Amino acid sequence: MMNSLKKVLRTIPDFPKPGIQFQDISPLLQDPIYFKNTILTLQKHHQNDAIDIIAGIESRGFIFGSALAYALGCGTVLIRKPNKLPGTVYQQSYDLEYGTDALEIQTDAFQPHQRVLLIDDVLATGGTVSAAQQIIQSHFDVQLIGATFLLEIIPLEGRRRLNDLPVHSLIQIP
Ligand code: AMP
Repeated sequence: MMNSLKKVLRTIPDFPKPGIQFQDISPLLQDPIYFKNTILTLQKHHQNDAIDIIAGIESRGFIFGSALAYALGCGTVLIRKPNKLPGTVYQQSYDLEYGTDALEIQTDAFQPHQRVLLIDDVLATGGTVSAAQQIIQSHFDVQLIGATFLLEIIPLEGRRRLNDLPVHSLIQIP
């Protein structure tokens, strides 16, 4: 299944900038069997992790995060780009190749001691998910049990930025 999953992903060269090999997941999302099997495979992997809530990273993390939360019977929380979430928020900025970006989360996103799983579609350099890890761990008394991805771009070594956080990916791009 995971090998054939590669067939419904496509690489778009030089998008959004020269030099970036963009991993386009649209064909996977368009295919009901592959999309369902992706979620069922993630569900199987995490079914004994006793997850209370899944934190999805904007915006493709929301697609997999909400479907997986439904499958596991848990809740979901949105980690968003600045100025999208109403009310009081915590913010964490992080470095990009050029410049900086930031993520925000609502201050009442979690209950104490909840078991939280982070999710995004692609683990590239790890900068985004590392900012998400920091925003959760520095403001909330929760147990961040891991980060899960559809795709991991191995040469970019993103998981090294996540310290001891367990990282799982369905597909690895060598
Ligand atoms: P990074 O912070 O470098 O790990 O980048 C992760 C975020 O950027 C994720 O939200 C991805 O959706 C997106 N991203 C980074 N690189 C790629 C890529 N080559 N193809 C598709 N999405 C990417």
